[in-house]
Amino acid sequence: MAMSAKMPKNESEWRKKLTPEQYHILREKGTEMPFTGEYVNHKKKGKYLCAGCGEELFASDTKFGSGCGWPSFYAPADESNVEKKKDISHLMVRTEVLCKKCGGHLGHVFNDGPQPTGKRYCINSVSLKFKKMH
Ligand code: FE
Repeated sequence: MAMSAKMPKNESEWRKKLTPEQYHILREKGTEMPFTGEYVNHKKKGKYLCAGCGEELFASDTKFGSGCGWPSFYAPADESNVEKKKDISHLMVRTEVLCKKCGGHLGHVFNDGPQPTGKRYCINSVSLKFKKMH
């Protein structure tokens, strides 16, 4: 998907910009099947941008092998680029993680991650776009 400078203004524009899978996860808060995502075992050095708007969300140096089936990071690239919201769906109390710029659903954050933060940002591969560091 090409990174457009123009942010979609409504859901029909988002549908045109995103693939059906990206739309389902980013805009309808879907979840990819565990262990299926493109970035689960991805170890290259670089940045992970929002697949919706291109905002820089995570960096490879905070990525760790959590074994949970989704790409996991112990911190966002910049705390101010992500938004956290209480999520009580599916009979669980979780903290949803969203891209602050476009409102896209990324995944959830849990308190069982490694140091130095103790956090595990459990993020859908589909919500991310990897950019190699040069
Ligand atoms: Fe975004």
